[in-house]
Amino acid sequence: MSFEWWDGFDSADKIVISAFLVQLTKWETVKNVILSMERKGLSSLEEIAKLDISSVEKMIKPVNFYRTKARRILNFARFAKDMGGLSNVLKLEKREVLLSQDGVGEETADSILLFAGHQLVFPNTDYSRRVITRVIGRELKRREVASFVKQNFNEDLYVYKVLHAGLGAVGKTFCLLTKPKCDRCFLKQVCEYNYRYS
Ligand code: SF4
Repeated sequence: MSFEWWDGFDSADKIVISAFLVQLTKWETVKNVILSMERKGLSSLEEIAKLDISSVEKMIKPVNFYRTKARRILNFARFAKDMGGLSNVLKLEKREVLLSQDGVGEETADSILLFAGHQLVFPNTDYSRRVITRVIGRELKRREVASFVKQNFNEDLYVYKVLHAGLGAVGKTFCLLTKPKCDRCFLKQVCEYNYRYS
């Protein structure tokens, strides 16, 4: 199973590291930091677990809140090592253990389970909630996104990954919180909001 849905990253480790780094940071900055870690041979959690905190801080300094994130990544790398490796952590049945790690909220846990662990779980995100709510013309709560997807789409890894990535892209590019750009959105033909308000 390919990892490369996550902007071309080719390993579960890089996806997990980027998920920690991206909080409140531009994606381009995160990508550059991961590429730099890769050049130094330090883009795996196994290698990171051997480092001290100041080395991790130095390595990820361009991202916002790098000190907090360095501590979280190092803790997570050591946790994964204690669990016998990342592949033992990225399982649906380990979701609660994942959620108990510092810096891992529900969206992060479910995103890495789906994209790095290839587990069939759909992350409840604000982007997905907003786009689906507007397309179907019915208010959806964030916690209801995954069950809506389960009821209305094939329970299939490929479908879940495409849908999550697609809804995120539409949410960021067109379906803005105020003044959505419906005239340029490729969902306009099927979107209730567009018919009602544009
Ligand atoms: S058509 Fe408009 S409201 Fe509907 S999903 Fe696209 S941007 Fe959002």
